[in-house]
Amino acid sequence: MAHVKLFIPGPVEVSAKTYEAFCTPMIGHRSKAFSGLYAGIMPQLQSLLSTKRPVFLSTSSAWGVMEGALRNLVTKKVLNCMCGAFSDKWLDVSKRCGKEAEGLQVEWGSPIRGEQVAERLKTGQFDAVTYVHNETSTGVMSPIEELAEVKRQFPDVMFIVDTVSSMSATPLNFDALGFDVMLAGVQKAFALPPGMAVFACSEAALAKSATVADRGYYFDLHEFEKNAEKHMTPSTPTIGHIYALQSKLEDFFAEGLEARYARHLKTVKMTHDWAAKHGFTLFPDEGYASVTLTCVNNGAKPGGRVIDAQKLTDLTKKRGFLINAGYGKIKGTTFRISNMGDETEASMVELFSALDESMKELG
Ligand SMILES: *Cc1c(COP(=O)(O)O)cnc(C)c1O
Repeated sequence: MAHVKLFIPGPVEVSAKTYEAFCTPMIGHRSKAFSGLYAGIMPQLQSLLSTKRPVFLSTSSAWGVMEGALRNLVTKKVLNCMCGAFSDKWLDVSKRCGKEAEGLQVEWGSPIRGEQVAERLKTGQFDAVTYVHNETSTGVMSPIEELAEVKRQFPDVMFIVDTVSSMSATPLNFDALGFDVMLAGVQKAFALPPGMAVFACSEAALAKSATVADRGYYFDLHEFEKNAEKHMTPSTPTIGHIYALQSKLEDFFAEGLEARYARHLKTVKMTHDWAAKHGFTLFPDEGYASVTLTCVNNGAKPGGRVIDAQKLTDLTKKRGFLINAGYGKIKGTTFRISNMGDETEASMVELFSALDESMKELG
């Protein structure tokens, strides 16, 4: 079957080079070859996140670490900042983990502002916050520097930050931001196959989790810490992913991180221009649009053109490109186009000409 190229906001298109690395013959996970592999990529991972802390590799999708962070760090009550499908879900997951939890809900399309979080933390009820930097369902990127400022006001509160669809596409300086857990799944901006998560935790997070008796084993931060000191993982990891990550980090640093960030800014601007050219508006509030995907307004909010988003998706799929016809409660009334991973100006142009033809066909 002919491959349909992915422009959905995860999983995204995986390069032939990455697949080749993924298929490197297997080694034992307690071997020198393995610790050499992990030790070899650690400095690049630390440089990517601007951190002196070890960067951990979890054999799970992002949700494993998102749930694990709650189990390690929440003893009193968690404030779940909610602005879309992924961030909203975190309240449900907190409750399912048996945690006291409360939502800070803003309208989908709006960002989470620092003062809103600070206002709630002032009540003194909370010992943890969950926050999604880049809400992939709405295409909103919340101002993360504002959250870092709130962390400085409330140093004892554990800040658990999902950068699933932004990590590696925009600068994220873990040590300077001061957060306690920051994580990503590799099938988004890293452009690896799904199945692994990358994360860092603070010393403060380790100290807090040491007081939690029922934090479990698989996502125990102390297990990750202890093993990472020897460049190992707590349990048998997805070794193919780590070879693929090694190959991907080579790509990141060959391009240069600044050039990589600039490329995402450029390709997302092209996507906004494509939408405007066809009379669409964007779903996110002005000034808060993501740099890794575009959530096009298609009736969810007043203003702009409205088409049959599923039909546009189907017609474009026939041309060999997959976009997404909206997620959760804004399915159909928005549609999403990803520019994350390896996409370039040239590859976006190919997508836009297919989309243009589909728009013509839609009439
Ligand atoms: C994709 C995504 C997740 C969930 O990732 P899984 O790989 O399904 O666990 C969480 N948060 C955000 C912002 C995402 O984009």
